[in-house]
Amino acid sequence: MLADSHAHLEMNDFDRDRDEVIRRAENAGVDLIITVGTTLDDCRKAVSIANKYKNVYAAIGIHPHEVKDIDETTYETLKKLAKMDKVVAFGEIGLDFFRNLSPRDVQIRRFGEQLELASEIGLPIIIHDRDAHQETLEMLGGWKGKHRGVVHCFSGNYKMAEKCLEMGFFISIPGAITFGKSEKLQDVVRHIPVTDILVETDAPYLTPHPNRGKRNEPAYVIHTARKVAEIKGLSLEELASVTYQNTKNVFGIK
Ligand SMILES: [Zn+2]
Ligand SMILES: [Zn+2]
Repeated sequence: MLADSHAHLEMNDFDRDRDEVIRRAENAGVDLIITVGTTLDDCRKAVSIANKYKNVYAAIGIHPHEVKDIDETTYETLKKLAKMDKVVAFGEIGLDFFRNLSPRDVQIRRFGEQLELASEIGLPIIIHDRDAHQETLEMLGGWKGKHRGVVHCFSGNYKMAEKCLEMGFFISIPGAITFGKSEKLQDVVRHIPVTDILVETDAPYLTPHPNRGKRNEPAYVIHTARKVAEIKGLSLEELASVTYQNTKNVFGIK
């Protein structure tokens, strides 16, 4: 049993073969996938995919790249979607100061608003942070929401990871851990308890070794899990089972 805590099955990249992608995941032992909508349209699509496949659950929210398009109806629509059965998280929300596809001041304002919305709705959150570690920590530190969540595709150092754990967040490890130059991320895995770790693909992006260069898909989360297991001195089965349970816990899946 293995969970992919973060994928984008709703993206057009999977329109042509979504059934097979999900079947391949099942055959690889990946029987829990969280699919994360990044725009309003993709959030609707993520919910309908979750409704169709037993092992798929949805997260809804507006990605920092897309927050420039938020208008006065967006949050009302998200509130309605949040009530659907298989919606288990709010996100991914956060800051991306690497690509800056939305202006930084807009990202910060919308991140604050979406944090508030998540605590009003009462869902755990999925945080996206790229090149914005300090700002992300400050905003999460000031946030009063009860339901914590996960910092996905973690890219900070272990000191940042410890701060996230203190605030009650899980750390989700991406396929980058399988790359040659992943010392910082390996260090994070070494320092934090396995009971605070999730694994993810972020498919269709960030394909792990040895599939690098191909489109990523949930079945490949096994490569990330294997590497994390090796660092922690656990068997793949042990690591899979703990991270599977962690994923269920953080998202309140029975
Ligand atoms: Zn992300
Ligand atoms: Zn993502």
